[in-house]
Amino acid sequence: MSRVMLNAVRKVYSNGFEAVKPCSFRIEDGEFLVLVGPSGCGKSTLLRMVAGLEPITSGTLSIGDRVVNDVDPAERDIAMVFQNYALYPHMTVRRNIGYGLKNRKIPGHQIAARVDEAARMLNLVEHLDRKPAQLSGGQRQRVAMGRAIVRDPALFLFDEPLSNLDAKLRNQMRIEIKALQRRLGVTSIYVTHDQVEAMTMADRIVVLNGGVIEQIGTPAEIYHAPASTFVASFMGAPPMNLMTAEVADHGLHLGDGAAVMAAPNGYRGPVTMGIRPEDVRIGTGSARFDVTLVEELGAHRLLHGQIAGQTFTAHVLKDVAITPGTYPIDLPGPALALFHPETGARL
Ligand code: ATP
Repeated sequence: MSRVMLNAVRKVYSNGFEAVKPCSFRIEDGEFLVLVGPSGCGKSTLLRMVAGLEPITSGTLSIGDRVVNDVDPAERDIAMVFQNYALYPHMTVRRNIGYGLKNRKIPGHQIAARVDEAARMLNLVEHLDRKPAQLSGGQRQRVAMGRAIVRDPALFLFDEPLSNLDAKLRNQMRIEIKALQRRLGVTSIYVTHDQVEAMTMADRIVVLNGGVIEQIGTPAEIYHAPASTFVASFMGAPPMNLMTAEVADHGLHLGDGAAVMAAPNGYRGPVTMGIRPEDVRIGTGSARFDVTLVEELGAHRLLHGQIAGQTFTAHVLKDVAITPGTYPIDLPGPALALFHPETGARL
């Protein structure tokens, strides 16, 4: 069992800065968990605490049945894949992949067999005798993966492993890494600031902001039911539209305008109203959308403009032909998310 449990894990750096506020969650055996958030939110600090590269200030961390707070990184049975690959330039691919095993005093023929198997899985067989400088970025990334795989660890830790690759290769590698993880069934924690990577790779996502967990959930939960305006605007490109609104008995008003829809049940008063750009319908409805810019994206179009004087973006399919102008727009009730106007928490 390689379940990982964090119980009130906290990090205060020696300068007194609290980079991670007490965090509790668990990663199930075989799960692919993605930690995502903007620069400085504490995701690398959290990962480094799991790896044992950074002491835990308070709380407990368990891997499997063991509390590992005071266990050396080498004894935690983890393999880490970094952004810069950390390959040895003077060694061949074969030696780079097998290096960690040699340190563990595993017999030579076993190392050779494991390296060959990993190379087959990663399509590196014909590159085994090359040095890292003779490889492409994607191949180097695969060598780093190979080094993690041969160790047969209880836990994979990934720290932004794709951020040095170009966009196309990044898309390809994220599919490869995800498929490999599925196949090997190794519990994995993956850090990224890229919300597309988080959405596409994760079984569950942890969204971090300022050292605090904003939300934990499946990609669908995070996308369709964001717990806060932070999550709503961080996940999704373009992000959820967030507008100042007021819920009165007779309807929901955007700014000072007329009611655009019936009031939802419950809450009355000022709100931040959220709706995803693809959840609107153009050409019908009681709100008016002043479209000022149309962005052509091939399969779809993004319409930018204002509703009731507030910035708004809509996502429509390519067959909806729209030019700048004013259009009726429907903001369907079931697609709306209401947030507290000050705290940003979901109402
Ligand atoms: P990035 O995506 O930029 O790497 P991150 O979310 O991984 O960001 P961390 O590297 O975990 O963020 O850093 C979290 C916060 O802790 C940041 O504000 C950072 O400046 C601070 N921090 C990191 N290392 C130290 C340190 N050794 N001493 C003091 N503060 C630190």
